[in-house]
Amino acid sequence: MNHHIQRDHNLGHKVSSMPGHAPQSYFRRRLRSLGYSMIVMGICFPLYYLGLFGGVEGPLNPEQLGTSLSSMGVSKVHMLVFFVSLLIFATTWNWIYNLVSLLIGARLTCTKKVGKTGAPCGAPVRRKRFVSRKTGTEVTQYLCERGHRCPEAHFHPVRKGSVSHCLWMISLAFCFIVLFLS
Ligand SMILES: [Zn+2]
Repeated sequence: MNHHIQRDHNLGHKVSSMPGHAPQSYFRRRLRSLGYSMIVMGICFPLYYLGLFGGVEGPLNPEQLGTSLSSMGVSKVHMLVFFVSLLIFATTWNWIYNLVSLLIGARLTCTKKVGKTGAPCGAPVRRKRFVSRKTGTEVTQYLCERGHRCPEAHFHPVRKGSVSHCLWMISLAFCFIVLFLS
């Protein structure tokens, strides 16, 4: 029980610190996408000059990489399997996390409209399932910290951060390299 309360508190903190619709949010978004491009470029340029994409002679040039890896006993199939699984992991981890969160009833907040503005309450909710005495069917209800009872709740999915985006892009690039360049 104590564990549950603790987790709800953590959730509440996370949810309340989520970005709102501030007027600067557009610029912040632009700045973030610029940041992503800079990170990707920052990773790709050194890899290019190490010869990874085959354009330049270097230690990571596909031909040399291929020969050195095959001398170590790593085949093309091994590498492909590795990078494809990395790609699958990097693209699906948050979908799986969100699905599990939804199934166990985590990351949900109250949708009850409060005050004159009609803004949602936003407090973390707990999912309650019970059988209705009147109809005899199972009813799902969301109970918030402030005592609201709602038939539905708002779900906050986890979105990929810059690390995840970089990881799947790099994995995809390596899959192509292994398939077509080596
Ligand atoms: Zn509420």
